[in-house]
Amino acid sequence: MAVRQLREAFEGFETSLSSLVAASRPLATDVDESNQEAVKMAVEELLSKQTELTQAARHVDAITAMRTRIEKRKTRLAELKQRSSRLVAELQASALQIETLMDQADKKLEDANHAMSAALPPEQVVDYAYRLAMARSINAPFGWNYAGRHERPFPTELQLKAGKLVEFAGVPPVKATKPKDQDTGKTTAKDEEPSVSKAAARTAEQAAGDDEGALPLTVRQVAFLTHECTHPHADAHAHAPGGPPSKRVKPEPALSDSDALSDASSAVTQLPNEDLLRRLAEEVEQEEETPMPNPTASGPAKAPEPTAAPLEAMQNTHDTGVKQEEEPNAEEPTEHVELVMTVVPPMIRHLGTRLGAAAAERTAATGWRLAGAMYPSPVLLASLLAMSSFTAAAGAASSSSTIVPQAHVAVIGGGLAGLAATIEAQRNGARVTLVEKEARIGGNSAKATSGMNGVHSRAQRLAESQDSVQTFVNDTLRAGRGLCNEALVDVLAQHSGEAVDFVESFGVQLDVLSQLGGHSFARTHREANTPEGRPKPVGFDIVAALRGHVETLAQLGLVHIATSSRVAGLSRAHAMPTESNGAAMGRGQFQVNIETAVGESTARMAQATPLLADAVVLATGGYSSSASKLHEHAPWLEDLATTNGPWAQGEGLDLGLSLGGMTEHLDKVQVHPTGFVDPTNPAARTLFLAPEALRGAGALLLNNMGHRFVDELAPRDTVTGSIWRYASYDTDSENLDDPATPVHEQRPTDAEAFLVMNKAAIKKFGPSAFSFYSKVKKFFTEVSGTTGLAEYINGVNQERQYPIHVEERIVRDTIEAYNRAAEHDFADAFEKQTFPVNYNMAVSFGDHPLFVARIKPVVHYTMGGLRVSPEGQLLDTHNQTIDGVFAAGEVSSGVHGANRLAGNSLLECVVFGRLAGQGAAAAATKATADLRHAHDEL
Ligand SMILES: Cc1cc2nc3c(=O)[nH]c(=O)nc-3n(C[C@H](O)[C@H](O)[C@H](O)COP(=O)(O)OP(=O)(O)OC[C@H]3O[C@@H](n4cnc5c(N)ncnc54)[C@H](O)[C@@H]3O)c2cc1C
Repeated sequence: MAVRQLREAFEGFETSLSSLVAASRPLATDVDESNQEAVKMAVEELLSKQTELTQAARHVDAITAMRTRIEKRKTRLAELKQRSSRLVAELQASALQIETLMDQADKKLEDANHAMSAALPPEQVVDYAYRLAMARSINAPFGWNYAGRHERPFPTELQLKAGKLVEFAGVPPVKATKPKDQDTGKTTAKDEEPSVSKAAARTAEQAAGDDEGALPLTVRQVAFLTHECTHPHADAHAHAPGGPPSKRVKPEPALSDSDALSDASSAVTQLPNEDLLRRLAEEVEQEEETPMPNPTASGPAKAPEPTAAPLEAMQNTHDTGVKQEEEPNAEEPTEHVELVMTVVPPMIRHLGTRLGAAAAERTAATGWRLAGAMYPSPVLLASLLAMSSFTAAAGAASSSSTIVPQAHVAVIGGGLAGLAATIEAQRNGARVTLVEKEARIGGNSAKATSGMNGVHSRAQRLAESQDSVQTFVNDTLRAGRGLCNEALVDVLAQHSGEAVDFVESFGVQLDVLSQLGGHSFARTHREANTPEGRPKPVGFDIVAALRGHVETLAQLGLVHIATSSRVAGLSRAHAMPTESNGAAMGRGQFQVNIETAVGESTARMAQATPLLADAVVLATGGYSSSASKLHEHAPWLEDLATTNGPWAQGEGLDLGLSLGGMTEHLDKVQVHPTGFVDPTNPAARTLFLAPEALRGAGALLLNNMGHRFVDELAPRDTVTGSIWRYASYDTDSENLDDPATPVHEQRPTDAEAFLVMNKAAIKKFGPSAFSFYSKVKKFFTEVSGTTGLAEYINGVNQERQYPIHVEERIVRDTIEAYNRAAEHDFADAFEKQTFPVNYNMAVSFGDHPLFVARIKPVVHYTMGGLRVSPEGQLLDTHNQTIDGVFAAGEVSSGVHGANRLAGNSLLECVVFGRLAGQGAAAAATKATADLRHAHDEL
């Protein structure tokens, strides 16, 4: 309103002024000589006033334009508000739907449990109970491993039966009333937690006088309980505790059409019978003489050791102090789990171990068999458990540097690709050995922070995304600049949605979608922030969830994990027995030479027994940390620091080549423009990644002269190139302005820039995540306005011995120029179009806080690697597949061509890791059959 009035007044004034000037002109000629000069001056003054007014009018125009823009934004905001409330409503509806579906799933699970129990002979139910209890006692978050850390706690029938069994054996539950001393009536310390042996002795006393004393009481109890478990509705009076075991009726399997179940049933017929139980029970009774350790005291409910620290903290180490803060709490055992875990006596463990050993003996003699897809049904997992042929061998430790000498499939490398391959190979019936050279599983996968791509995932469906497989393929091919293998990209995109589902099935909720550089839609999935607003470490969480599952499989003896074990060589073994090499019968196709660590350090390795495997999956990651490989293939980058861990040495390339494989695109190395320079160790070789989100939130990049030099939101390679060109004092970089010289060939070695943020940018980025970089890692220094910033830059220049002194005025000009562009929303000198925040306060108030960090380009990812088929099988120099050898993850090539799209690597690990695992299991099955056939022929 005020502007309009001002404008109208001005227009009226301008008209009258113009007429006045017009009228005064003839007047000036009329007036006598002496007054002419004065009139002229008056006219000039009027004219200059007119110019001023015109300028004022321009300002008015600018204000009007700004108002229009504000109005437009208001309308847009209102639309967005409306849309978000619609989305909230939809989300609520979906949540309800999900709840209902979960209830239905629970119901189905329960029915399946009932059906399974009904289908199984009583001995096996008892065996389940024992083994389940054992597994529980070893690994508290057992349910967590496949159902997700905040999922329901494995309330299976079997657990209930395990609980019942223990209750029946007379062992009081966890918080039972303390028994009193018979004479004094006081609680005795000795009796506070009655030992198993005592409990068993008590039950034995109860049974004294029973005519059927020939059978030890515990065994009779077991038999009774077995009946109870399998006939829950039977008349209680007919089978009183301590009474004779009821006649057992073996029910028909309810799910006899299932392959897994029929396998299970046949294995069950070989399970320990009552005689064995009796012998074992007798042994147990003998052992009662020896006091047994209290299982609670030995801490059986411990969650598995986290193998990697979370979030960005993970980027440089597997062991930072932040880990404790970020690590999701180990799930509190539920009441039932607690009961089972607390009362699982050594007797039961002992019995279970013996049962496992007996089963192992038998299955070793008859050849081992594993059921097919059992995941994720706990019932089927339990059935597999009962059939496991090497439970006893697995022992209590889930991973070790002890090598079990034979496997169907050897997976080399314990990053995301290796974990996905292990899970899938195991699901397809293979006995897998996962070999990892580091003491902990995780690799670079645990460092990922942006997320994992996927099309048609749950989150995209919820968001009603218009994304498509074809658009994803096109984006990936465009980024790869003509070097991608289209068949691999097709597989990647086609399987992307189910890959996200696969990860979610382990309990990692990938709800949040972002649209990262080079993508046409929001398709990079990560987890929602914590309730306190802290971002979750997506790579770390995905690895932790899959690792947890693999560790559970290891506890069950279905997978062997060898950590601190480096594969130093691979060769073909004599697979087929012949008259001359008959001794090789039963050995795998490949000999995997493993060096295990000596003592605690993985730096010192010693030769160990070779592992023989029927198929091999190479999942050893990239070579960003290998100075020699970079020197050979991308020498212009060899002196750069890297975001990768020191394990990224590209050893898988040599292993693949030794089996006849082929590499390609090894010179295609992705450089990330912003690795944090640690002020306390500026020469460090491994740097933390300064995530793109910092620039996305409005961070500025300044060079050592105090100037901006690039659109901070430009693609990675543009920002990197600009840092090399404009943020270096190195004289070698002079050639960089010559467009004929490829930037990487004349790269200066000293390029480093300053990343500057104000409070508004920090707010956008997320203060708690920012505080990790500023307070924990101390990469940022707080400075006072433009003066402080100039001082900081000068300090670094001095430290680096650059004879450059930056005046405060220059920094101020730089920031003012940015502010002008940001305010008027026009592209600035670097074609920057989007201005997430402005820095007005920094120039208006001398002491306004700014936060500055040093950054430089770092080697981040290696696109080249071993050539593979769309099934993940290694290709030879003639593009023919090599039998039994697979590669997945960063060790392979083809998906990313010359440049990787953010978020495509985690996806590649899951998609091709799974395919490689399936292929390797099939190859191993075939190898075993061929071997048997050859043996029969001999
Ligand atoms: C800081 C950072 C952030 C990233 N962010 C993302 C992101 O947000 N999204 C995305 O998609 N990608 C991201 N990436 C890339 C991605 O994390 C990796 O490329 C990918 O996880 C590689 O997985 P991998 O399983 O192939 O290898 P790794 O996870 O590196 O695992 C390989 C494993 O093999 C082991 N190994 C190597 N040689 C041997 C041997 N001879 N014997 C036994 N074991 C061996 C290693 O010790 C290692 O544990 C990021 C990378 C980094 C460094």
